[in-house]
Amino acid sequence: MWAADIITKKRDGAELSDNEIEWLIKSYTSNEIPDYQMAAWLMAIFFQGMTNKETAALTMAMATSGDIVDLSQIPGIKVDKHSTGGVGDSTTLILAPLVAAAGVPVAKMSGRGLGFTGGTIDKLEAIPGFKTTLAHREFIANLLTYNIALTGQSAAIAPADGKLYSLRDVTATVESIPLIASSIMSKKIASGADKIVLDVKVGNGAFMKNKTDAIRLAETMVGIGQFVDRETIAIITNMEQPLGMAVGNSLEIKEAIKLLSGQGELALREICLTLGSHMLVLGKKASTPEEGYRQLAALIDNGQALAKFEEFIAAQSGDATIVHDNTKLPQAHFIQEVSSLGQGYVTAISAAQIGYAAMRLGAGREFKGQAIDLSAGIVMQCRLGQAIRRGQPLATIYTNDKSRLEEARLMIQQAVRINTQPAAAIPLVMGIVDKHGFRNWLA
Ligand code: URA
Repeated sequence: MWAADIITKKRDGAELSDNEIEWLIKSYTSNEIPDYQMAAWLMAIFFQGMTNKETAALTMAMATSGDIVDLSQIPGIKVDKHSTGGVGDSTTLILAPLVAAAGVPVAKMSGRGLGFTGGTIDKLEAIPGFKTTLAHREFIANLLTYNIALTGQSAAIAPADGKLYSLRDVTATVESIPLIASSIMSKKIASGADKIVLDVKVGNGAFMKNKTDAIRLAETMVGIGQFVDRETIAIITNMEQPLGMAVGNSLEIKEAIKLLSGQGELALREICLTLGSHMLVLGKKASTPEEGYRQLAALIDNGQALAKFEEFIAAQSGDATIVHDNTKLPQAHFIQEVSSLGQGYVTAISAAQIGYAAMRLGAGREFKGQAIDLSAGIVMQCRLGQAIRRGQPLATIYTNDKSRLEEARLMIQQAVRINTQPAAAIPLVMGIVDKHGFRNWLA
């Protein structure tokens, strides 16, 4: 086979065979095909798209380019969850112990973040002593004992995706639905998931800026799941403001503890219960999402979800006393309130700008490998639709770099728009995509 022939075929809009895709990915992973040919192929996909069959073949070629985690020793259906990324999104920290407490095994491989705030691994590193890298043996042992284990994703998981993603990043080919879908699904499949629940975010703080694109991305990933026999559903959720109030690593751990204790931001709770209820249905621990939702709410109310979080922290050598004393988490030296300059109703909160401000305070990375300040970030004090007076706090900022305070204050004041009339509310959960297609949540 010749790479140039495969590039030509895709450029001209023909469908590639499974063998051609497999050969190309294998050859690229073993450095037999240069970046410039792969870049041309990616750009051809960007413009021509891929059929569902091609996208499934690309997913499996990337998933099998490295290790496939074997979770067969773990009884039960392993249901993984993935979010396409947002601001103030601590759902994994909440869902993992919650779903594990309900009896679904949670075998999670997570990454570090690039951009707004850290990834789940960075957030957990805010817990003193918490071990974010587990050997396979330890991972399995913790799963068997506690029904929950979380580790950093090793470089051996879908290495072809790692290599391709770096190339996409510098060749303007990230924003392609088949490429995003295959990238996400390849890692989930290689991580050993039997079934997958996706949280596809739409809005100013998300990858997908409009609902049409979010539904297309969701349908593509659900379609891949069907092709490769991993049942997948996707919930389309709104990211028009930070999901939780906290944006920043130790701040999000505090918020997760609050949620697991039955307090905290209702939108974040609603998303967690919704995603979790579908995880319970796929894991055969509930017969309907409504039943799953009730089960999970009860586990929060009776303290079992929080107890599972404590157990999980201790099992990975972390200091579980932070659950009852959060002053043991990293604390910022400089804390400042940002006041509203206007009066009226909050009609827009740019989640992207709040995320960017948190990153500038030290909570996220501007480049790969950059150290982050685990104590830094923002806690919002306002929500969309809320009435607000001049001088009332919009947010509180946390940092160890005093020189960043003024910049963050200005960014937050710009990010929160205040008008005399309230804007129409956007539903938090917009719909679901499963094997039957898209269904509007409210229909
Ligand atoms: N997340 C991924 O893992 N891959 C993409 O291509 C985009 C988001």
